[in-house]
Amino acid sequence: MELQKLAELDKKFHMPTYNRLPVNLIRGKGVKVWDNQGKEYFDCIAGLGVMNLGHSHPLIVETLCQQARELMHVTNLFFIEPQIELAKKIIERTFPGKCFFANSGAEANEGAIKLARKYSKKMFGPGKSKIITAWNSFHGRTLGMLSATGQEKKKDDFEPLVPGFVHVRLNEIEELEKVIDKETCALLLEPIQGEGGVYPADKGYLEKARSLCDQKEVLLIFDEVQTGMGRTGTLFAYQNFGVRPDIITIAKGLGSGLPIGCFVAQEKIANVFKPGDHGSTFGGGPLVTKVAGKVLEIIDDEFLQVVQKTGRYFRKELEKLISKYPDLINEIRGLGLLIGLELTEPLAEKITLDMLDKGVIVNNIGDYIIRLLPPLIIETEQIDLIIDIMDQSMGTIGVKNES
Ligand code: PLP
Repeated sequence: MELQKLAELDKKFHMPTYNRLPVNLIRGKGVKVWDNQGKEYFDCIAGLGVMNLGHSHPLIVETLCQQARELMHVTNLFFIEPQIELAKKIIERTFPGKCFFANSGAEANEGAIKLARKYSKKMFGPGKSKIITAWNSFHGRTLGMLSATGQEKKKDDFEPLVPGFVHVRLNEIEELEKVIDKETCALLLEPIQGEGGVYPADKGYLEKARSLCDQKEVLLIFDEVQTGMGRTGTLFAYQNFGVRPDIITIAKGLGSGLPIGCFVAQEKIANVFKPGDHGSTFGGGPLVTKVAGKVLEIIDDEFLQVVQKTGRYFRKELEKLISKYPDLINEIRGLGLLIGLELTEPLAEKITLDMLDKGVIVNNIGDYIIRLLPPLIIETEQIDLIIDIMDQSMGTIGVKNES
């Protein structure tokens, strides 16, 4: 459909919650997507951190079609074989514990908080229910996760929010020490704040947070919705930091384009849930869990080593741009293939749109930050082409800005 027509219909029939980019994408393969005019783009945001294996990975398509022919949905009142197999695979690659499957990142986080609250109540009695999260964090759009999210601008219009959430500054251990108390149930953190602008937690901060949580009998929950599934070069980002959480939440890349969420808890915590405590009609269905099982098989240790190497290469090439545009790029942050460029001037949107025009999709977070989350299968030659286009855009926009 023609773009102008699409925009009219979107305006007429869809709630205006997104500023759509002026492109009608209709096909994807690997790192590339195509619009309805046949124009090719490098998808450097991977459907916002979802298409970690690239678009239409042949093994994923094959698994999806095969399972769709056999069984797409049954209720969780029955055993679901692909669900159990997926849970086993996740546990083998995280820590001894148990999984629950939901449909999105926000839902995974909701479930994790419910579990943490029930565990605290059972172990320590009522009142130990406070959840600490970080300022600038993002945990989802449900009312509960909006309350958890540490960004006032996203929640202003939706009060009253869910009580029991407080925020601290990331990487400020003394502040955390002050806020954590006998009423605290859990500390919920993203190992790297993705939506907030790619701000990594310090390893030392996470280590100290872990020991504080142990001292105060507080659960440590990592929201790995964006950082998980190989994005940072290990299957989950906490494995980079060497700090083991009590619960992790997963979504995005786990389904390779199908909606899925999951929370994984250490066994003694997981076991406080009883039948009826939590549930989902679609969560853990055979179609999505079969596909997710294949995703995990593909993201093996060898695959992750390549991601680490590719991430280092991307970073090195971006650093060359800093040398070229020292007045425009302030810093580069992130880990593996979750990369943020902070600009010194409010040009992130302009550069993003110019790159889109030139065939590279990146994402601007506000005026100053450009985020890159390419498919993990991206190759160095493709990175060279992307850097070249970013270079051109920065040159053009930077020069225009000076004049
Ligand atoms: N948590 C984090 C860290 C996220 O990045 C996101 C989405 O971007 C969410 C939670 C919410 O996930 P979903 O949109 O699948 O509900």
